[in-house]
Amino acid sequence: MRVGVLALQGSFAEHAETLRAIGASPVLVRLPEHMEGIAGLIIPGGESTTIGKLLVNAGLLGPLRAAVKNGMPVYGTCAGMILLARDIGGLDQPLIGAMDITVKRNAFGRQLDSFEESLSVPFLGPEPFRGVFIRAPLIEKTGIGVSVLATLADGRVVAARQGTLLATAFHPELTDDGRVHRYFLGMMDGRAA
Ligand code: GLN
Repeated sequence: MRVGVLALQGSFAEHAETLRAIGASPVLVRLPEHMEGIAGLIIPGGESTTIGKLLVNAGLLGPLRAAVKNGMPVYGTCAGMILLARDIGGLDQPLIGAMDITVKRNAFGRQLDSFEESLSVPFLGPEPFRGVFIRAPLIEKTGIGVSVLATLADGRVVAARQGTLLATAFHPELTDDGRVHRYFLGMMDGRAA
């Protein structure tokens, strides 16, 4: 299955590697024409303001919004989740803005810049998932039609899905656990309801 990985900035190489490890074919997307023939797209972690600006410069923001409207599955990790969100608390930066979630950028402040927490992930099975958080955002509010998929031990939301859109505040591409990516492949071919 051909899976696009937005390759403007951030952890796209790691996503491509994880996809290869589970038998999918990553396609690096840097220009609108690279979107031809992909069945879904992953937006990596990185810096959402930078990725947003580069999306505008590459002429990709419009085509991406259109593809999402037409039902293309998209998975955003961390900065990718910020780009998918409809509401980031009024900050002025380019967004795809498709998912009915309110996201707070850099929600853990300086003290907790980066941390790991074992996450309970019922949507992936009984085994916990190693959640790697780097200057991570949080999902503060979810709209109707958004399912919460994972929370921190204290209940704060770190993964959600709305139809064809998937978002995690953590970075599964920095672990060797391919289950989130496999779940996304399932969304792409309609297996994961
Ligand atoms: N703090 C970054 C942002 O606001 C996201 C961090 C990440 O993707 N690891 O865009």
